[in-house]
This record gives sequence, structure tokens and C-alpha cells, in this order.
Amino acid sequence: MVNKRLFGTFGVRRRANEVLTPEFASKLAAAYGTLIKGQVAVGGDPRTSTPMIKHAVISGLLSSGCRVIDMGILPTPTVQYAVRNYYDGGVIITASHNPPQDNGIKFVDGDGIGIPDDMEEKIENMFFDENPNRVPWDEISEVEYNSNIIDEYIENVVHRVDKDSIQDAGFKVVVDCGSGAACFTTPYLLRELGCQVTTMNCQPDGFFPGREPEPTEDNLHDLINAVKSLGADLGIAHDGDADRTICIDENGDFVFGDKTFALVEKFMLKENNGGLIVTTVATSQAIYDIAKKYGGEVIATRVGDLLVARALKEKNGLFGGEENGGLIFPDFVYGRDAALSTAKIIEIMAREKKPLSELIEELPSYQSEKRKVECPDELKVEVMEKIAEATCEFEVDTTDGVKILTEEGWVIIRPSGTEPIFRCFAEAKNEDDVKKMVEWGISLVLEQLKS
Ligand code: MG
Repeated sequence: MVNKRLFGTFGVRRRANEVLTPEFASKLAAAYGTLIKGQVAVGGDPRTSTPMIKHAVISGLLSSGCRVIDMGILPTPTVQYAVRNYYDGGVIITASHNPPQDNGIKFVDGDGIGIPDDMEEKIENMFFDENPNRVPWDEISEVEYNSNIIDEYIENVVHRVDKDSIQDAGFKVVVDCGSGAACFTTPYLLRELGCQVTTMNCQPDGFFPGREPEPTEDNLHDLINAVKSLGADLGIAHDGDADRTICIDENGDFVFGDKTFALVEKFMLKENNGGLIVTTVATSQAIYDIAKKYGGEVIATRVGDLLVARALKEKNGLFGGEENGGLIFPDFVYGRDAALSTAKIIEIMAREKKPLSELIEELPSYQSEKRKVECPDELKVEVMEKIAEATCEFEVDTTDGVKILTEEGWVIIRPSGTEPIFRCFAEAKNEDDVKKMVEWGISLVLEQLKS
């Protein structure tokens, strides 16, 4: 049987030129174009396969009757910004933080939000069982360009923060763009804000020679060393398509994404006298603690940044994010945005006149641990149901997988959408409890697998 699901949590991501060939990309884009029927912006990250896939996507869109605006290499959120303000749809060629061999295609709607499930299904059906619309020869458009969009996007970010305070602070910042799409934005943005900028891995390169595209602590040793040896105030790192920002504090310590999320949440709520915060069920209790203290309210969606973005739009939320350093400012871009995240964090440091380590120290503190356990795909549903049964005496949240809440903390057990594993993520006040919680989660999966 042919697997007719193509989309993951946000778009299609595959090995470039194996599954993700020009033929594949072109037909998929034609199916999307058939539904959008309008002006579509196209951009991508600097992967070696991006130009090949981008040209195939453009062909597909033109063939289905769309007008295409080629925006070149640029961050995912810059495309989302452009679509929301000027166009009917957008296609982004990127595999985000995946290794260099992969690439992917993300489709967004007219608001710049990742397309909803029902639209994905329509595209898949058209891809496998029906044919996309093909317009006659005299209705095929030309390709247009928009070369101002990056400047406009950076300018817009600058206008959203207190430039004078940041300028006065005169921060020394080291930026590691990992040779990704942020090379075209973050260094320029920081200089515009009056920071003293040192760059590393800021030449776009699809081989990612400096480091892997994912900004994990293991991949950021060079940045950590540079921050220490230059005596910088801050280190900034991004993933391949520049929708996530990770910080290194002035001591060279890696700051986890849930900490920067909590920090920005605190100041967004203070600035706006409260508001609605949207996150996923896998995010820290700290987000709830801060909301309670500063007049906010929190709602949690299933895991997936586009679900957070959609909820922010539907419920008119103030701010949202995920534990991995992806922050969403819905009045700017309906998706994770690395540039405004960076500017906001620097603005907070400037206004509070405190180093990043101290600002982080002031936040509620929890311990967390992430683990995974193998489970064949075909058993996932059954195991999940049995875990829900076995834990019914506890307080349980089944928004996504099973999240069990106890006095000590919580553990969430979720089947992965892309790999034959369960992800198990626990959080508690102290290390002993978090170990117990995560072991418990793992043991629940193993017990159901045996029975
Ligand atoms: Mg990304």
C-alpha cells in the first residue's frame, strides 16, 4: 500500500533529490497553487538543493496559474512576514535544523501561517489521485522579484524595540548564524541597533561547514568559547532557516529555550498589562507561574509551532512560544521569528540594565529531562490507549499524547510523528523527582509493549 501522507508537523521534509526530487516538488506545488490561485511568494534557506527545488516549485505554481514572487535566500519568518502583508500564499524551501542532505517544503496560507490539515489533505489527494489545475499557455505568468523585503523586515523589527536604550547599552554580541538564512538578517539587525557585532559562520553555505544547523549546546562550543574570550555580553545562535534563537549568556553558559521564552513572556506581560499566552503541552510550568504573577492567561495546544500560531490568531493572543527557543509575536509574524526574538532579548537586557544570567536567575526554576523509547509505528495507538487507561487515577491531559500531572511535577508521553519512538519529557522542582518522573514515563511505554 502506498503511504498517502506526505506532510509532517509543518510541511514535507525528505532527503533531497531522493524522495524530494524536482518532479515531486513541482507536482506538490501545482496542487498547492490550484487551491491558492493568486500571488505566491517563494523563498528558501541556503541548502545546496534549495535552488533546484525552488525552481521546480516555481514551475509548478506557474503551471497551475499562480503569479510567483521569487524572494531568494531568506529566513522562513521573512517569507511569512511578506505573505501576510502582500501576497495570497507562500512556499518556503527549507529543512530547518535538519542535516545538510535534507530539504523540505513549507506551505503557508494568506496570513503566513502553516496551512491547516484539511488543506494538506486536499494537496495530498490531488498529488496521488487527481491532477492539479494546468492553465493554458496564454495564462502562464512571469516570475517577479521582491528584493526590498529583507530590508523592510529588519526595519520593522527595529521599530518594535527601544532602539535608544539598546544603543546606549552598547552591547558586545557574538552571532553564529550556522551558515543559515540568518546570515542575511541578524548581523545587520544588531548593527542597526548599535551593538558591537562579531560574526561567525555568517557566510551562507549549504554544506554547513562551521557547525550542524541545529543550535544545540553540543553544536555551539565555538560560539561559547568566542563569547568567553571576547568578554561579550551575549552570544546568539540560529537554526538553518532562522526561526529559532538560542542565547549564550555573558559567562558562556547555554540558555535553554524555555528560559528565554519565560523571560520574554514576563516582559511582554508587564509591558501590556497582561494578555493571552499560547504554548504547547510540552512547555515548562514556569510559563504558567509567570502568567499568574503578571496578569496573563495560558492556553496549551498540541505540539507544533503552526498550531500555536493559529491559536494566537484565533484567540487574539499576545505572545506564544515553544520550549526549543521558537518565539511567536503574533502582531508581527504568525510563526516563530528569530530576528524579533533576538531584538526583544537585547531590549530587555538594556532596559533592565542586568546581564542575561541575572535575568534568567530571577525566573522560576524547574528541572527537566527529555528521553525517547523505541516503539513500532503500528503499536503506537494501542500503547497510547493503554497508558491512558493505566493512569486514569491521576490528573491526565490528553491534548497531545498523555501528560500526567502529580504533586512533584509532570511527565508527557507522546508518539513521534516521524520516527518509531515515543518521546518522554518530564519536569519537576528538583533533580530526583524529574528522574523518577521520566523513568516512570519510560516504564509505562515498556509495560504496555510487553502486555
Ligand atoms: Mg527552523
